[in-house]
Amino acid sequence: MRARRRDLAALNKTGIVNPESNYCFGEGGAGTYSDGKLYTRSNKRGNIQRILNIFRQFGADDAITTDAHPHIGTNKLPHIITAMREQVTDSGGAVHFEQKVTDFILEKDQVTGVKTAAGDVFHARHVILATGHSARDIFELLHAKGILIERKPFALGVRVEHPQSLIDSAQYHCAVRGDHLPPASYSLVEQVNGRGVFSFCMCPGGIIAPAATSPGELVVNGWSPPNAITPTLIRAWW
Ligand SMILES: Cc1cc2nc3c(=O)[nH]c(=O)nc-3n(C[C@H](O)[C@H](O)[C@H](O)COP(=O)(O)OP(=O)(O)OC[C@H]3O[C@@H](n4cnc5c(N)ncnc54)[C@H](O)[C@@H]3O)c2cc1C
Repeated sequence: MRARRRDLAALNKTGIVNPESNYCFGEGGAGTYSDGKLYTRSNKRGNIQRILNIFRQFGADDAITTDAHPHIGTNKLPHIITAMREQVTDSGGAVHFEQKVTDFILEKDQVTGVKTAAGDVFHARHVILATGHSARDIFELLHAKGILIERKPFALGVRVEHPQSLIDSAQYHCAVRGDHLPPASYSLVEQVNGRGVFSFCMCPGGIIAPAATSPGELVVNGWSPPNAITPTLIRAWW
């Protein structure tokens, strides 16, 4: 986590992305530096309360188990992820950092292990890939190995930034937000030509994070410690 924090500081300062360690890659993945908003409009997500309790067990505020819009906050997540990893290792698991998977070992159409960039080989009866949506090299590897991959429906997102004062005045109907009011938020849901368009990730008082994983890419996301800018990601399903 410490090395990752250093790489992110360099990214924010210079704008140059380290392809192996950035807002998406490193210990805990994108989740470590996400906003930690834990609510969903879907009611088909399994046992949400169980997940909230797990986050609380590892250091999130008690409030997330009762809030309508539970929000952990980026400042807390790195500690929570570290505590989760320590629980894994204390229970006999192992975490191998800086071991980039670069090949699968296949025997009779069965995956029996992986090879890493360092030249190490890990054998296993089961291999679970949890490399996130930014690991393009893994998708290419799956394709090159003749392993079936299927695309899923994608959402097209645009990020809209408003001054927080504009949202505050629209929602609170006052020229200046008082000290006792939190930065105001909003959500937007609309049907356009039979497709749903909705605001997805409202970060009241939030900041924009450069979430690219390769040099030359432009990818942004947001989170929300107190600040003056409100980014909103609006998505349309295609
Ligand atoms: C700034 C920001 C804010 C966000 N805010 C929210 C939010 O508020 N709420 C929400 O629900 N979601 C949020 N998200 C999205 C959320 O973080 C992701 O959807 C989630 O982390 C995806 O989890 P994952 O485990 O699938 O993959 P990831 O979190 O992407 O993890 C993938 C892991 O695999 C590793 N990896 C990749 N390739 C290899 C390889 N070849 N070998 C070995 N390891 C590899 C990476 O280093 C990484 O650790 C946010 C994301 C960002 C960037």
